[in-house]
Amino acid sequence: MDLKTLIRTIPDYPKAGVQFRDITSLIEHPEGFRESITQLAAPFRDKGITHVAGIEARGFIFGAGLAIELGVGFVPIRKAGKLPGETIGQNYALEYGVDTIEMHAGAVKEGDKVLLVDDLVATGGTAIAAISLIRRSGAVLEDAAFVIDLPDLGGADKIRAQNINTHFLIE
Ligand code: 5GP
Repeated sequence: MDLKTLIRTIPDYPKAGVQFRDITSLIEHPEGFRESITQLAAPFRDKGITHVAGIEARGFIFGAGLAIELGVGFVPIRKAGKLPGETIGQNYALEYGVDTIEMHAGAVKEGDKVLLVDDLVATGGTAIAAISLIRRSGAVLEDAAFVIDLPDLGGADKIRAQNINTHFLIE
């Protein structure tokens, strides 16, 4: 199945000039959604992954399916102020301003091997903040899986420069 044909493009969202790649059309398609999880999991079946960490919000959708597929736990990485327990946080730069992501303290620790998941890489800023956050916990993070890469924005190269192996289903 050609997963790319299931991605819808919405012009001028969330602002003028942006071509938003919409994954809801993929996850609404039962075989497409299942196939995307199967393909995301394929390289990681025998890699000793102990946790999948998914980035809010679309990373939760693919990350939850991937965690079940790999038989491991799921760790949510959320926008600031959303997690109820004690958290560790990481700031990252936006086009205008700064944002923060958080993870529960102790959710992963030394000896764990984490696979990072999100739906899409644009500039790479969100993923790189998540990589710093997870590594600060003492867990090993060597691999990240995404449904879509926007190669013109160069985010994937920046992620690989953090000594992360990247896995994409669609360019
Ligand atoms: P980055 O930090 O790499 O610039 O942006 C990636 C983050 O923004 C991801 O969490 C992703 O969900 C979201 N994002 C940015 N642009 C798009 C887009 O066109 N489509 C989707 N589905 N997500 C996007």
